[in-house]
Amino acid sequence: MAKQPMLKFVSVERDMPNKRDASVRKEDFKEIYAEFAKAKAEEQASRCSQCGVPYCQSHCPLHNNIPDWLRLTATGRLEEAYAVSQSTNTFPEICGRICPQDRLCEGNCVIEQSGHGTVTIGSVEKYITDTAWEQGWVKPIVPAIERTESVGIIGAGPGGLAAADRLRRAGIQVTVYDRYDRAGGLLTYGIPGFKLEKDIVLRRNDQLAQSGVMFKQNCEIGKDISFADIRAAHDAVIIATGVYKSRDLQGPGAGAEGIVKAIDYLTASNRQDFGDAVPEIESGELNAEGKKVVVIGGGDTAMDCVRTAIRQGAESVKCLYRRDKANMPGSQRETQNAEEEGVEFVWLSAPKGFTVVDKVEGVMVQKMRLGQPDATGRQSPEVIEGADYVEEADLVIKALGFEPEALPTLWEEPALEVTRWGTVKAQFTTGETDLEGVYAVGDIVRGASLVVWAIKDGRDCADVIVEKLGVPAAVAAE
Ligand SMILES: Cc1cc2nc3c(=O)[nH]c(=O)nc-3n(C[C@H](O)[C@H](O)[C@H](O)COP(=O)(O)OP(=O)(O)OC[C@H]3O[C@@H](n4cnc5c(N)ncnc54)[C@H](O)[C@@H]3O)c2cc1C
Ligand code: SF4
Repeated sequence: MAKQPMLKFVSVERDMPNKRDASVRKEDFKEIYAEFAKAKAEEQASRCSQCGVPYCQSHCPLHNNIPDWLRLTATGRLEEAYAVSQSTNTFPEICGRICPQDRLCEGNCVIEQSGHGTVTIGSVEKYITDTAWEQGWVKPIVPAIERTESVGIIGAGPGGLAAADRLRRAGIQVTVYDRYDRAGGLLTYGIPGFKLEKDIVLRRNDQLAQSGVMFKQNCEIGKDISFADIRAAHDAVIIATGVYKSRDLQGPGAGAEGIVKAIDYLTASNRQDFGDAVPEIESGELNAEGKKVVVIGGGDTAMDCVRTAIRQGAESVKCLYRRDKANMPGSQRETQNAEEEGVEFVWLSAPKGFTVVDKVEGVMVQKMRLGQPDATGRQSPEVIEGADYVEEADLVIKALGFEPEALPTLWEEPALEVTRWGTVKAQFTTGETDLEGVYAVGDIVRGASLVVWAIKDGRDCADVIVEKLGVPAAVAAE
């Protein structure tokens, strides 16, 4: 494959007047961009037929009142649209940017189903809340009354932060503990900046800090503080730690230099976006520039890796997936973006090992075919004998998914029950675990999932805690 040109990407692509114009950057024409975004949002909002059967709303995990805020946007009543939108979603501008809308609200828009193209709900949601920030409508929380009860939240990802927001509205004291130096979880260090700009996440972290949420960063439970101490310090504890154990590959050469984990690769790139010194990027270890890159996996994490590698100036980027395009777990929109940017997909291909001379030089690929459907109805891949070949690579990124860390062992709390997948056993609607006063939300309960589900879990769990602690769920004065 020919060397990729060094593309000059705008930070957010979905609403740009001309996404493919490589010479244009968002900051070069902020006013034109704002005018365009307004006109586009109003045009899209006015396309909603107010059909009366809002499948979009029922397929949004937060049951956002989409028809109402579309109607208010179409008639220029943006502040009211914002009030409706933020009443069900803690971070609407984030969901508007990174929800897989094609599988959720937009995929179920009646206009889409009648073949006329969906109302771009996510981009209107983003526009409403971005405008609210610009206009100063988004303010720190000022509870009507400060309470003495306190909740400790382990994990500053979207699940933990959504819970923190709700608890503060009821005046409860909240401390969020996180092992990273910045809050945001995968919003900060997983999802790349070209999908979710980092200042969008940071301003939410700041807003929560200004709302009285205490952040204890660089604090790993099980290492810096014990789980027992956290429990003793608070009236309730929410576990919102996400899932971080990367699934691995076996086979000859699997431990060679040049074979890296997706989360390490993406974290390094995100740190670079923050302006941090990242020795692994400088040394080339986690840098795709000038390299033949092979990403293994077919989910959204794999798409983020291939698109990051393109932006770092890789010589070529290939994505190896053992099923075909129709059976990829990742969002179709993300796959299409990757294809448009020059990523080559090698379908029906699985790694069997690696060729190594000092460091990785290639992936030994087995060609696959799809066999009979299994119990879940999904066709299982089968090896085609004698069709193996070697795919050249000097950087291999493993994006095979994530599993939970062994919390009961790491936290010396064997009574914390986990499922056979290692996720924390908790009631889906309330987050309650079998341990008194201990709750769990987000990926650590669901397995690797979505930001919008973590937000929903965090909000629901906070409301249950507010009730259990006997605190009146007064809506905070803002
Ligand atoms: C690369 C990538 C891209 C993704 N893209 C999308 C997307 O486009 N759209 C989407 O909806 N979803 C996406 N997801 C999924 C989404 O990010 C997660 O579902 C969501 O972040 C889960 O939220 P959470 O709060 O449960 O956990 P996380 O966001 O994972 O946050 C958990 C936090 O807990 C902290 N923590 C863990 N253990 C400890 C401990 N022992 N002590 C202290 N702190 C601890 C971590 O440091 C982290 O900050 C993506 C995931 C990945 C990996
Ligand atoms: S939160 Fe996600 S699913 Fe719900 S309306 Fe917004 S973009 Fe759609």
